[in-house]
Amino acid sequence: MLDQGVNFAQLKRFYGFSIQPDSVEELREMKVLPLREAYEGVEEIYITHLHLDHLGSLNIPGEIRTYLPSKDVVEILSRSWWFGWKQHLLPKTLSFLNFRDLEEGKKVQHARISHSAFPSYALRVDADDVSILYTGDLRLSAPHNISSNSLESLEKLSEDGVDVLIVEGTNFGRRMNYLTPSQFKELLRELLERYKRKLLFISTHPLDLEVTLTILELLWESEYIPVFENLYYAQLLDIMINKVGYVVGEELLFAPRTSKVRTLENFEIAFLGELKNLKKAVFVPSCG
Ligand SMILES: [Zn+2]
Repeated sequence: MLDQGVNFAQLKRFYGFSIQPDSVEELREMKVLPLREAYEGVEEIYITHLHLDHLGSLNIPGEIRTYLPSKDVVEILSRSWWFGWKQHLLPKTLSFLNFRDLEEGKKVQHARISHSAFPSYALRVDADDVSILYTGDLRLSAPHNISSNSLESLEKLSEDGVDVLIVEGTNFGRRMNYLTPSQFKELLRELLERYKRKLLFISTHPLDLEVTLTILELLWESEYIPVFENLYYAQLLDIMINKVGYVVGEELLFAPRTSKVRTLENFEIAFLGELKNLKKAVFVPSCG
């Protein structure tokens, strides 16, 4: 099984502020998650990336071996699932011990691709009678050079030809005005140049490592010091930076809201009082 996501349209049809799901089984019956029967005969599950419309619930029927893009990242991500309907996405034992990292999987070939959730993979499955290339979600042009080039990765995976190609195209045909990565960088650079105050607030999606690193570099360029005050947001970035092997060359601060200090490898700890006169950009998590 390749991905097993939440159907958000279906979720919104039945649930809202005052009506919450009761169990993972109910979500399956309501077709918000794949039906229980969909798992019959499944040997292994591979998840391409951690957006919920692909990841779905880790409370999986039966004992199917499941490969995640990154166990460590999911574990931190899942700390925000405790309240509200997302609690039904937690593994039934509440432990991640039985999950594996996708790169350990033997039955599929994988290649890293650029997307707004780190890490993201495209997968190739060679069955007896058919070979399938599944792209997962992807960005054609990456905002940061730390990421893999999606098209090169897909080319590598399809070298000996494939029979079936499954492509995700969430934004195809939408009436949106797209920004290329270089337009995005130029726009932000210009904003930072014209902004004359010492305090700036920034919100990025916590899983979007590529965009977060791009913004961090632009902030450093404009002599803003990036500050994180949300532990969960900082931990996610810390672990993703380690996983991708990025070297933080400039100041990156974590200002804990409580006196309980945690060490994060890529952050320096600062206390709120020390920040007062700094030219700083404070990262606040988006609600997504
Ligand atoms: Zn996605």
